[in-house]
Amino acid sequence: MNKILKEAYDRLYHKTPLGFYNCGRLCDGLCCRGDCKGMWLYPHEEELFADKEGFEVCETEGNYGYPMVICSGKCNRAERPLACRIFPLFPLVYEIDGKLKFEVILDPRANMCPLARQQKPLDPSFIKEVRKTARVLARDPETLEYMKAVSLELTEIIELREKLGL
Ligand code: SF4
Ligand code: SF4
Repeated sequence: MNKILKEAYDRLYHKTPLGFYNCGRLCDGLCCRGDCKGMWLYPHEEELFADKEGFEVCETEGNYGYPMVICSGKCNRAERPLACRIFPLFPLVYEIDGKLKFEVILDPRANMCPLARQQKPLDPSFIKEVRKTARVLARDPETLEYMKAVSLELTEIIELREKLGL
């Protein structure tokens, strides 16, 4: 595993949206069931899941050229991809006057998550760790480009929903 990805994985190993409490007990693990078992991979994650038992890497037309990984619905916590570690948040990254800015938001695609739907306050240390992790990931130029592209897409989704009053 590359050094940057390892640091990102380690940072979000223990943290959960509700601190150390497993939020999956609130919703019976909704994000590990049904259609939600497909996760977009970040750059460099593909090689980690290519031959891993319980995971299947699939090419897709979305995700800016990076594949998706499908899981069995149960995993060793230490092996979760970044998308699961960060969910239901996303760290937006954009550039202002040549400087990178990071803003952690509720991912507008996280509709099924009760924490996102009910706007429940999440553990501030989780949010902080997601922001720090984004800074770590942004050190890799390929990952930075990927995060910027997703940030733009999510911003457009949010703006469209606001326009439509959704
Ligand atoms: S859907 Fe939300 S509350 Fe449920 S396990 Fe996933 S992140 Fe936690
Ligand atoms: S990889 Fe693990 S945490 Fe992520 S959706 Fe699958 S079972 Fe849930």
